[in-house]
Amino acid sequence: MKLVFLGPPGVGKGTLANMFEERNNIPKISTGDLFRENVKNKTELGKEAEKYMNSGKLVPDEVVIGMVREKIKNMDSYILDGFPRTIPQAEALDNITIIDRVINYTATDKTIIERLSGRRTCPKCNAIYHTKNIPPKKQGVCDKCGSALIQRDDDKPEAIKKRLKVYKQQTEPLIKLYKQKGILVDVDTEKPLEKIYEATLKAIK
Ligand code: AMP
Repeated sequence: MKLVFLGPPGVGKGTLANMFEERNNIPKISTGDLFRENVKNKTELGKEAEKYMNSGKLVPDEVVIGMVREKIKNMDSYILDGFPRTIPQAEALDNITIIDRVINYTATDKTIIERLSGRRTCPKCNAIYHTKNIPPKKQGVCDKCGSALIQRDDDKPEAIKKRLKVYKQQTEPLIKLYKQKGILVDVDTEKPLEKIYEATLKAIK
């Protein structure tokens, strides 16, 4: 099954993709995680991407598309989390493969800002927490691998504003595009995580 998880930053795409990876064995491919790994390892790709990421801008299409094409070329099942994010990326994906379903996660701006500012992530295993909504068992420590949790630089107020603006301008148009293709299902995220998981399961059945 080939899925795209769409929606604004902070809506919960990554958290849900992690759940599907663990419970349903569908590999998660997060372009954000891939870029962060490259930044951490100081690769050429990482150095290029970092310039855009820290200020909440999108990495240029050709860079992202090349990376995703290489990653998915031999895979027949995955969840794309954070890709595509622009019309040219969606068109490129269309030329690479056929996507079965696009889940469009929705939430109010207020909820999104609250989720992003409380988000804490594990730099080692990419687990995602929230100081209030999904706290780790021991404060500041990853339940899964024991690493110290961090707040992403782009989860700080100035970058959040920029990312939401970029989402509205560049990514929101994809909703219409996938609706026209008849493969998009909306999932409201203003409810407990387990309910969102169940709604997603229903949407992909
Ligand atoms: P994310 O973890 O999905 O919020 O991504 C973090 C940052 O990585 C974004 O703010 C962008 O700078 C970059 N990024 C991730 N995915 C993409 C994409 N599909 N297109 C362009 N930039 C991306």
